[in-house]
Amino acid sequence: MNLLNKSYFKNALLLLAIALATLIVITPPVLAATSPHWGYGGAENPTQWGKLSDDFLQCELGRDQSPIDIKKAVEDSPAKIKFDYKPTPLIVVNNGHTIQVNYSQGSTITINDEKYSLLQFHFHTPSEHNINSKASAMELHLVHRNEAGQLAVIGVMLNEGNLNPLIADIWKQIPDIGQTNTVSDRLINVTNLLPKNKAYFSYSGSLTTPPCSEGVSWNIFVEPITVSKEQIEAFSRIYQVDARPLQPINGRTVQLHR
Ligand SMILES: [Zn+2]
Repeated sequence: MNLLNKSYFKNALLLLAIALATLIVITPPVLAATSPHWGYGGAENPTQWGKLSDDFLQCELGRDQSPIDIKKAVEDSPAKIKFDYKPTPLIVVNNGHTIQVNYSQGSTITINDEKYSLLQFHFHTPSEHNINSKASAMELHLVHRNEAGQLAVIGVMLNEGNLNPLIADIWKQIPDIGQTNTVSDRLINVTNLLPKNKAYFSYSGSLTTPPCSEGVSWNIFVEPITVSKEQIEAFSRIYQVDARPLQPINGRTVQLHR
């Protein structure tokens, strides 16, 4: 009886040690504090987003979701986005889903007399939107908000080609996951990431990440910019895929402004 008790105690201790070790190994890094967790692969992949939280229901039930395959665009009023982007200190965030650059207050765009402030820009690979069923190597999103809280996103396709100097600067400053790197002595201007030709497609869609909220004004340049093969590979080493699959258009119209 005594022997049995001893071995039972030993086994219990061993089990406890294993349980503790497992807990330490599988507990994700601090950034997972923002719950619920979502991702691009495994059990939290985009097809599951709507099931991960009641807050994410739009991802599954929404009818005006993004991204989409942009085709059969209808020619509309001429291009008239007014860009007023100012230099900002370089602040690079590695948020566990993408590389994001936060923008200081005071940079705006005006679409149809409505002014939106630039909050941040970030990258996806491969591109989330397709143009005529063709994806690009990467896609840049510039996220803006107006006073009423409505979002407008400018999308820029990134194709493989010449190196982009501003992206080279950003890539050099990428911190570890969950970290922010503030390079206050380095000013950047995101104007340098816009194509020369300002023609663009527009449609009404959603955030392409949870909670997939709708009512987002999407404005995607027809002309791509280029990044080098090495720049694409450098991003892919951190985020191999961070793009939501195409969503059904459900009768929406895409306008072309040029
Ligand atoms: Zn995005």
